[in-house]
Amino acid sequence: AARLSAISTITSTPPVESGFDFASSPTSSVWGQNVFSLNEMEQRLPKAIFKSLKNTITSGEPLDIDTADAVAEAMKTWAISKGVTHYAHVFYPLTGLTAEKHDSFFDPDSNGGTIGTFAGKALIQGEPDGSSFPNGGIRQTFEARGYTIWDVTSAAYIIENPNGTTLCIPTAFVSWTGEALDKKTPVLRSMQALNKHAQRVLKFFGTNGPFVSSSAGAEQEYFLVDNHFFYARPDLLAAGRTLFGSPPPKGQEFDDHYFGAIPERVQAFMFEVERECFKLGIPAKTRHNEVAPGQFELAPVYEMANVATDHQQLVMTTLKKVAQKYGMTCLLHEKPFAGVNGSGKHVNFSMGSPKAGNLFDPGDTPAENAQFLVFCAAMISAVYKHAKLLRNVVASASNDHRLGANEAPPAILSVFLGTELNQVMESIVNGSPVTSRKTPLNIGVDVLPQIPKDSGDRNRTSPMAFTGNRFEFRAVGSNQSIAGPMVAMNTIMAEALDEAATALEASDTSTQEKLGAAVAAYVKTVWQDCSSVVFNGDGYAAEWQVEAAKRGLPNLVATPDALGVIKEQTYTDLFAKYGVLSERELDSRYEVYSEQYIASVNVESNLVVEMARTMIFPAAVRYQGELAASLVNLKALGIEADHDTLTKVTGLIKKLQDSVAELVALKASEHDAQNVAAHCFMIKETVLPKMLEVRGYVDALEELVADDLWPLPTYQEMLFIK
Ligand code: ADP
Ligand code: MG
Repeated sequence: AARLSAISTITSTPPVESGFDFASSPTSSVWGQNVFSLNEMEQRLPKAIFKSLKNTITSGEPLDIDTADAVAEAMKTWAISKGVTHYAHVFYPLTGLTAEKHDSFFDPDSNGGTIGTFAGKALIQGEPDGSSFPNGGIRQTFEARGYTIWDVTSAAYIIENPNGTTLCIPTAFVSWTGEALDKKTPVLRSMQALNKHAQRVLKFFGTNGPFVSSSAGAEQEYFLVDNHFFYARPDLLAAGRTLFGSPPPKGQEFDDHYFGAIPERVQAFMFEVERECFKLGIPAKTRHNEVAPGQFELAPVYEMANVATDHQQLVMTTLKKVAQKYGMTCLLHEKPFAGVNGSGKHVNFSMGSPKAGNLFDPGDTPAENAQFLVFCAAMISAVYKHAKLLRNVVASASNDHRLGANEAPPAILSVFLGTELNQVMESIVNGSPVTSRKTPLNIGVDVLPQIPKDSGDRNRTSPMAFTGNRFEFRAVGSNQSIAGPMVAMNTIMAEALDEAATALEASDTSTQEKLGAAVAAYVKTVWQDCSSVVFNGDGYAAEWQVEAAKRGLPNLVATPDALGVIKEQTYTDLFAKYGVLSERELDSRYEVYSEQYIASVNVESNLVVEMARTMIFPAAVRYQGELAASLVNLKALGIEADHDTLTKVTGLIKKLQDSVAELVALKASEHDAQNVAAHCFMIKETVLPKMLEVRGYVDALEELVADDLWPLPTYQEMLFIK
């Protein structure tokens, strides 16, 4: 069987060598070598041109065509010197993947040769044939054109491949009417909104000025599986997760994988991933084993949200690409193995500017404390008001298997503050001094307590945890772009800061004392209205579900429950008010994400039917035949034996056949769905449970059928053979 030959091939193949000489060429020496960075531009561009470009980057002013021409020329020269022959506008369609349109630098000249051309216009604008990307109804065929537009704030870079090297230009993808067809455009728009209202607040603290940007540090979890196993599992290959498989005799109960020794092949893979990331200027930093066997994590140092979002896409591509060299497949699915820890992408979120510093850092001075309190209270109010939106932006068929599954935050969005910070908030509301402070009260602004430095406890069960100088959004799935979460957080913070600024602007803030009182009043209002979203206990506990319901917090359990949120009037208004997404753009996202949910479950249910019929049923029937033959033989010899196993196998085969037939019927009935929303709910309520029922019979058979007849690599094999 394919499965058994996979095992023998894997165990007899010597490990792949990375081929790097880390002594003569340390990873640090390749840092940024494939990035057309500001430094690189400064060296290659005339002073005036560079200044104009930098101005565009920092202030968002439009790029003029002369500057673009000069930058394009310099970029081309740099790229050709590195063996580049093609350039590509890279964009991020709503599918969450990365798309590219490649063009050659070289045009035929009139003498039968070629010349390298790359005009400014080709740099700043492209016209991909985007008709194959889902647009949720924004583009009709008569207006099919879409444009890619260079995002000057995200540097161009080179991707090396054995068969050709390409200059990649990060772009926004918009329709000819200027509507966002991609994930980048709203990120950029939401960053502008955030900056605008953050500045209004910072004015009160004298720290306004330079662009306030949000930052993101995304911890990426993933699984590695040997390719031989991967290709022997049609479900992994086509759906990215196992649809069948009984739990391994040895699971993660010993915790011996977490921070344990990293297997050699995986280590070589990690070194190379880090090296590739470094070349692209991605600050990959930590790497370690995760909770589940076969699961690992990579965390880069945080960067400006928009750059971090692009880099995060590159990290995912790099993980997949490098894994292949080592004969493995990197699984980014949120739940590749049932009953085993799933994969998340914790997005660490903060905001700040060179002048104001990190606005989620409590700081050392009373003024910094006061500023922090406003931003922290704004965050609490934002999450309280928009918990449903935060659930919406992490909704996907695959993340549903992870959220709330005893290893990932529940679908209820709450905020963890930690005991210290919670006390600070309460003391402001009660007007009483904080007693259990580690540092003495340093009020200055009298009503405000000093914030303890180490106020971020470690709570690993909260979907939105304050961790000392940032909020960690843990509900994001490992396979998701962080663009959606960034757009949501930037926009809801823009609104909360708008409200904070409006409150402060309406107050007497003529002295430090009075400013302090105004800040305290704002914090008090937020706490009174919104503190039910704050929860410092165990988010995995069953009691929390009950408690949260009592508090009236939304609990949108599955994707169909969460998808419709962006169609609510609240969100049409919110996104229009802050200029992030129009109603049509929101509708198109609703359409695309619903279709994706339907399509991905459809692939899975197809696989369940096919694998059950063509792999599991035949194996079970063969085994049934062996058992029956053996009983007949024994009987001929006059030996009495019981039928227990044969009876069980026969019963399971019958149930398997019946449930598969029922699943097929349910799939057929999907055609009756009145609209996409009804279709999504139908899948959630009927198709997915039936798939699980089929799985139950398959997994029971796996525990009975002779090992040499079982066609699918087992959990034990996939997770432990490295
Ligand atoms: P843990 O697993 O304890 O959460 P990691 O070290 O794995 O910690 O990841 C922490 C992540 O948070 C890193 O990506 C890091 O760059 C990021 N981070 C640290 N400080 C900030 C900040 N101020 N804003 C945003 N992200 C941050
Ligand atoms: Mg973390």
